[in-house]
Amino acid sequence: MKKYLFAASLVIGAFLFTACGQTTQESDSDELNVVATFYPMYEFTKEVVGDTGNVELLIPAGTEPHDFEPSAQQSAKIADADVFVYNSSDMEFFVDSLKNTIDTDQTLMIEAAKGIERLESQEDHDEEHEESEGHHHDHAYDPHVWLDPTLAIQEVQTIAKELGEKYPDKKDTFEKNAAAYVQKLEALDQAYTEALKGAANRTFVTQHAAFAYLANRYDLEQVAISGVSPDQEPTPSRLAELKDFVEQNNVEVIYFEENASSKVAETLSKETGVKLEVLNPLESLTNDQIKAGENYVSIMEKNLEALKESIK
Ligand code: ZN
Repeated sequence: MKKYLFAASLVIGAFLFTACGQTTQESDSDELNVVATFYPMYEFTKEVVGDTGNVELLIPAGTEPHDFEPSAQQSAKIADADVFVYNSSDMEFFVDSLKNTIDTDQTLMIEAAKGIERLESQEDHDEEHEESEGHHHDHAYDPHVWLDPTLAIQEVQTIAKELGEKYPDKKDTFEKNAAAYVQKLEALDQAYTEALKGAANRTFVTQHAAFAYLANRYDLEQVAISGVSPDQEPTPSRLAELKDFVEQNNVEVIYFEENASSKVAETLSKETGVKLEVLNPLESLTNDQIKAGENYVSIMEKNLEALKESIK
């Protein structure tokens, strides 16, 4: 029974999604024109805005948002928007320079992660970037706050508050919409709390160190392994190191951010004896995932199922 209801709500959701897409063409002057950077910012904003406006995703589905730089056209889209929502300038680096070029009276810029205390970054981004593009950003702080449902609630409330200050006539609607969505996030937090409490093993090993806030919330320990990419064959020496690490720490599962290509997965599993699972950092959903009705809550539920392979 539950399953059918869920499927039905997906169908309705997909229909609404299409319907909203069509209304963007007609420009209703009263309708807010909102741009949000990457997937969770888009969903959080869309839930708050509801039918008071149209929300567009800036960073295309399936695109890596770390170090994303908008094209001239994308920057123009932000400048034309009434509202622009982003996580923080330690995630969307381009926002700092964007602030100098756009009229912030015209476009309300909302930093969803404002006021959230940051953890120091565990990711060795600088090294990766020097190798790949010669970029050198300050990655001292970890931007992945949206992966803790409780901090996600804080982001939703910040978006609602700042929207309400700028558009007082719609304030009640934003607050009502936010409250309805926050209930779902609270249920998610409850599910995590229930599922993870009392587990003897509280450590998990991940390739993308995106889960520090989540680990903090539920009293888990994230161990990050660097130098292993889901689409790149690890070097023999790296494999040997990994094998040692896995043996010394009795690791059963290593988490990747997406389905590792079968060849790499096979090599890793064969050489180290571990299982590879997906822990999705929700930095972007693919078009297929969006079409299938996946969203922040559904992916976070899948992440919880995957985590339970280690936390038990
Ligand atoms: Zn990340």
